[in-house]
Amino acid sequence: MKPPRMILGMISVAALIAWILSACSSGSGYGGYGANNGSNYSDHNNFNNFGASPIYYGSYERELPHSPGYSVPHTQQVATKTQPTKTQAIEAPQQTPAYQPISTNKTKDALGHKPGPKNFSTVIIDAGHGGKDSGAIVNGVSEKKLALDIARKLKEKLRGSFKAVFIRNGDYFVSLDGRVNATKKFDDAVLVSIHLNHSSTSYVRGPETYYFRVDSYSLAKRMQQAMAAVSPIEKSRGLVRRRLRLTRNPQIPSVLVEIGYLSNSSERSLLSQASYRDQMATALANALKDQNRLGDKGMGKLPEPLNKPLSRPSDSSSL
Ligand SMILES: [Zn+2]
Repeated sequence: MKPPRMILGMISVAALIAWILSACSSGSGYGGYGANNGSNYSDHNNFNNFGASPIYYGSYERELPHSPGYSVPHTQQVATKTQPTKTQAIEAPQQTPAYQPISTNKTKDALGHKPGPKNFSTVIIDAGHGGKDSGAIVNGVSEKKLALDIARKLKEKLRGSFKAVFIRNGDYFVSLDGRVNATKKFDDAVLVSIHLNHSSTSYVRGPETYYFRVDSYSLAKRMQQAMAAVSPIEKSRGLVRRRLRLTRNPQIPSVLVEIGYLSNSSERSLLSQASYRDQMATALANALKDQNRLGDKGMGKLPEPLNKPLSRPSDSSSL
């Protein structure tokens, strides 16, 4: 073998080894998130932020399931993200979904494979965490306190437009399934769960909104747009379709908002100001009022119905 060809051969082998090593390191990053389950804020969505923003897409792609029991379909969903654009994958599926006809304007529906609500009477406000579950705490700023404060502000702003009810109105613990159960007596309502986010990467910031059901898409999009308009530091981190306990399991349209990142110092200082929280509550209230008045109008094509099982504790510790 002539020396130049041998060198080329060595380079090929080296490239192959590098490729294998890189594939292996992706795999260990994936599994490694199981270790986060015991932390204070392991219940946040930021580890699974696929599609939320092109800016962070690359780094978050490998940080998906932080639980060994996380469902395969999510993994597949992420694995295909490199094919279409992120926007297409989340907001504009190519297929026209076969919606079930709706006979009334009531919101209750096990799967939510239908257009979004209009003229609904009730907003169930869920302040995330509480009691023994503080959520994220950074430099003394506590998620459970800020979430409850924003929930209370939101209720005030909905006065006269909706019947607004709390899942918790104090510093006490309610399990995720308990929150889901609390929604069951309402059949003309939507659920809004309020959280503050945390990332191990301090520069990550901006509001995010999570939904899963088709009938929750437009409300989620309205909320994300409204929060992004208030946030001075990020246009939009994104609208994320994800099967969470509080986006999949309730039988009514359900949206989970992450108002901002406590782990980012500039956003934390904003979130610490009552006036900023008030603006965010106003943004959420306006989104609810717009949805109530307009339904899905102006929100574009609805996402494709996904027939996925209920989210269970063994799926992920997220929320
Ligand atoms: Zn939270």
